[in-house]
Amino acid sequence: MAKKQSRPAGKGTYQSKKNPIRPLMWVTVAVIALFLVIAFINKSMESKAEPIVYDEMPSLDGQPLYGESGAPVTVVEFGDYKCPSCKYWDENIFPKLKADYIDSGKVNYTFINTLFHGEESVLASLASETALAQYPEHFWDFHHALFAAQPSNQNAQWVTMDKIRELAENHIPNIDIESFMQALTDKTSQAAVNADDNLVERYKVQLTPTIMVNNVMMADPFDYDAIRAAIEERLAAIQ
Ligand code: CA
Repeated sequence: MAKKQSRPAGKGTYQSKKNPIRPLMWVTVAVIALFLVIAFINKSMESKAEPIVYDEMPSLDGQPLYGESGAPVTVVEFGDYKCPSCKYWDENIFPKLKADYIDSGKVNYTFINTLFHGEESVLASLASETALAQYPEHFWDFHHALFAAQPSNQNAQWVTMDKIRELAENHIPNIDIESFMQALTDKTSQAAVNADDNLVERYKVQLTPTIMVNNVMMADPFDYDAIRAAIEERLAAIQ
């Protein structure tokens, strides 16, 4: 029986030639690719979102207006009394806006209820709209009092009928509190809350607070320099 002979290795058989440089090349390519991906992601994160320009600003029909009604620029806040960032905006950005532009009649300001935090948002906005309907001259005191009442514990339930009663009594002089509370129970201002909700949908508001300067939705509501620049640009355009 013929003995099978193994073919000596390397003779007549195909052997892949191992090139020691090739794996190194692939590793290098992979590392470079990884760096490029990381650089791209970093750049994406760094690049600021752009403001969104709408055809027109939200309708001020039935909305509270702080400042001169004839002011050439309007700052619109889409906000929520339950939202901690909105409290921050109300207590830190609004006073600057007031001192720099509202008090001198260059800018007026409005607040549109944005119900992103459930039933407490709804109750607070109903109370706010009821205050606007019944005591428009004291609306802004009540509005700021709602934000001031927001506790630092974001999860705490605080918008209750009792809290609303207390705030209304303390911030709306000569209020007929029973009539006010009855209107709240009867949801007599529901239509105003719904109107705000429609604006939230129409302007595709995703976050609170969202700030618009006339028809321009700011990319960052806390970038006061950008808000100032947007206001100045519009003031310059009308001169
Ligand atoms: Ca409203």
